[in-house]
Amino acid sequence: MPVKILVNPRMAERTQKLSENASGKFYVDTTCIDCDLCRQTAPANFARNAEKGYSYVSKQPVTPEEAKFCQQAKEECPVDSIGDDGEG
Ligand code: SF4
Repeated sequence: MPVKILVNPRMAERTQKLSENASGKFYVDTTCIDCDLCRQTAPANFARNAEKGYSYVSKQPVTPEEAKFCQQAKEECPVDSIGDDGEG
């Protein structure tokens, strides 16, 4: 019997970037569920809009370490709300 592999087809959508994102490569789109994971993984680069209940990129990474944590945050986001194609 064939095995069906389900893959989440979603990717962050740069046309739906939140307005608070710092301009540049990384961004959060409007599908963020405010789970806090990116803020824990990359606290120097992600912040929370507490009033509206979502995260956004407060600062683009400037060091290799920050870039690594931002990439990790992108990969960990449970709803794929973080994109890294914001410069296109
Ligand atoms: S990890 Fe994803 S869903 Fe969770 S707060 Fe960050 S952008 Fe939002």
